Amino acid sequence: MPVALTSTYGFEDSAEIRDHFEGKVEREEYGRYGNPTVRVAETKLAALDSAEDAALFGSGMAAISTTLLALLKQGQHLVLTADCYRRTRQLVTTILPNYGITADLVDASDEAALERAIAPGKTRVLLSESPTNPYLRVCDVARLARLRDRHRGLKLVIDSTFATPVNQRPLEQGADLVIHSATKYLGGHNDLLAGSVSGASGLVSVIRDLRGVLGPILDPHSAYLLLRGMKTLDLRVRRQNASALELARWLSTHPSVERVYYPGLESHPDHALASRQMTGFGGVVSFLLRGDAGATSRCLDLLRVFTIAPSLGGVESLIEQPALMSFYEMTSEQRAAIGIPDNLVRMSVGLEDVADLRGDLERALEGGLPPASPSP
Ligand SMILES: *Cc1c(COP(=O)(O)O)cnc(C)c1O
Repeated sequence: MPVALTSTYGFEDSAEIRDHFEGKVEREEYGRYGNPTVRVAETKLAALDSAEDAALFGSGMAAISTTLLALLKQGQHLVLTADCYRRTRQLVTTILPNYGITADLVDASDEAALERAIAPGKTRVLLSESPTNPYLRVCDVARLARLRDRHRGLKLVIDSTFATPVNQRPLEQGADLVIHSATKYLGGHNDLLAGSVSGASGLVSVIRDLRGVLGPILDPHSAYLLLRGMKTLDLRVRRQNASALELARWLSTHPSVERVYYPGLESHPDHALASRQMTGFGGVVSFLLRGDAGATSRCLDLLRVFTIAPSLGGVESLIEQPALMSFYEMTSEQRAAIGIPDNLVRMSVGLEDVADLRGDLERALEGGLPPASPSP
């Protein structure tokens, strides 16, 4: 598929303009409304998600904000599950209220609280991530879909970024829309920003129309890179699933590691649900080190194969200490209160040889958290 680098599309004559607006010819008009390279990427992504249609955006946040603005009006309400991407929470709790749209944050596993939070007729969106960041909690999409069925006008939206369509297809379990930050696994090479929303064509076209007004489109070159990335999505994600599971198992036996969070481990609270709902557990592993903030940073600084960076889902393995990277402006106490301890580490496993990754972690843990010297 070529990269269609153009902002506008020429018409043969005035008759073609009329035919275009009367729907007699299928063609592009102007770059904010569509682009052939972007359209091919949308069609492929829709197929991966088992959706009728998909719309792409310039980032995951552009997809989320446009979707919420398309589905919600002044005076309406949404329910967001609490363990969610920081900027989604910021949008919902500090930006949307400026437009008269209110929200409640509820624990995804507390069905009674979810039911209580839904105001009949007023609550229009139930938005949940699965798996979540950084603890990889998995929500039961089929159960949320049954909850949605009990409330007229309510739409269930799942941010499935961490799973990808390879590991989880929420539309098949009853979700109305699925969102991805395509910046992560779908692009897969840490070289583009993109976001998507997939679902029934009627619903997607409402969101696409708003995209044409607000303007958060994907540029054709990034769409081309996304198409390149999607060709190897299945291979990459399967390898990342396997390497992450191996590293999670190994870390959970390491004396310097206090706890490992990975849905593929039996110790994870959602292991049974994840085994039912997903076909792989993903490439992200979080863990607590036996050490304070300084010791945790020392370990990460000793890594050579992992790169210290935010983001996830690319071919290069990335690692971060969320207390420093995403929650820097808070105090230790504030972070502890929202469940982000200073010794928490999140890693995104890439495509390097898993033995190299394990060796890198082993060296860093030994150097950064030296075992207590044996008493004489
Ligand atoms: C990264 C991420 C986003 C935001 O995507 P961008 O492409 O960075 O805008 C949204 N949700 C989840 C779960 C993410 O990981």
